[in-house]
Amino acid sequence: MIKLGALDGDGIGPEIVSAAVRVVEATDLDVEFINYPVGWEAYEEYDSTVPQVTLDGLKECDGWLLGPIFAGEYPEDDLADRNPSSTLRQAFDLYSNVRPIRSYTDTGSGEIDITIFRQNTEGFLADRNMHVGDGRFMPTGDVALSVRVVTRQESRRIAEAAFAYAAERDIDVTAVSKKNVLQHGGTLFIEECEKVSEQYPHVGFETFIIDAFSAELVMNPTEYDVVVTTNLFGDILSDEAAGIAGSLGLAPGLNHSHDHAMAQATHGAAPDIAGEGIANPTSMILSAAMLLDWLGRRETEDIPEAATAINNAVAQTIDSGVRTPDIGGNATNEEFTDAVIAQLQIET
Ligand code: ATP
Ligand code: MG
Repeated sequence: MIKLGALDGDGIGPEIVSAAVRVVEATDLDVEFINYPVGWEAYEEYDSTVPQVTLDGLKECDGWLLGPIFAGEYPEDDLADRNPSSTLRQAFDLYSNVRPIRSYTDTGSGEIDITIFRQNTEGFLADRNMHVGDGRFMPTGDVALSVRVVTRQESRRIAEAAFAYAAERDIDVTAVSKKNVLQHGGTLFIEECEKVSEQYPHVGFETFIIDAFSAELVMNPTEYDVVVTTNLFGDILSDEAAGIAGSLGLAPGLNHSHDHAMAQATHGAAPDIAGEGIANPTSMILSAAMLLDWLGRRETEDIPEAATAINNAVAQTIDSGVRTPDIGGNATNEEFTDAVIAQLQIET
């Protein structure tokens, strides 16, 4: 029995998490989902966006799905866990955020197949939870400081994850930084990538500065395989790549450490379409498949088989023309999910 947590989150979170849960339940795996509160709903009930009951429950799970979080809209004051997503990443040391982006429709940009390895626990975003209360990052009401933390250990860990992934698939790695301006952190990050690259002489390796790479990605998106970068750059580049591939709704993600994994779509809570039933659940469904694949590396064989079946069912469904509005169709989230499940039943 596989025990998975389901954390709805905000905005379109509940709609897309339930779609992913339905798809996983439609595989022949013996899986049980347990709901835990997170985000705004949790704050209203428990006074915390990541209550202890959630942290304790997740420790007992094999992994979990996290819906998107609408932290930008949370009230300014007295909210310790301002961003549940980063709280969970920190609490479980989920240092690696793997975001594979593929084109499922013809966007005119060619067949994109890029996997971004985003360092997930340090960098600029690490100060997010410290803005409230202590004033250290707001010396006056008109001045805000952002501090970036880059360590050798974490640069090395994410580089190792990226190179191992590339070596297994016989593809190349591109490391992206802004070391010409953010000199110390950028240089340290690239140095660690270079050291790891020496252990993988068969994996092609090059480095880029983030601004040039952003243009390069638009102009030649099919040229790149694995991209490894620091936290904030990974956040931005994965939305860019997802946009080139056609929609933010197509880009899945897995946050993981050695011992824990959290499936989470690349996009945010999409408040503009929340509750309308038209969100594309693909990113969340594929994130769940990534979680199964990760679990399968540690346990039995039928888990990665189920992950592959989900990936195929999603691709076939989109191919057959059942599409949500963000990729030019008129299917609702539910109609799309039903079609994926029907396809899954044909496959298995
Ligand atoms: P965050 O800061 O939480 O990452 P964001 O500001 O980056 O949020 P998103 O919530 O990702 O913004 O939304 C950006 C745009 O993409 C919105 O117009 C939204 O409707 C659209 N979008 C995001 N996810 C989906 C989805 N699954 N299906 C359809 N459209 C989506
Ligand atoms: Mg975003």
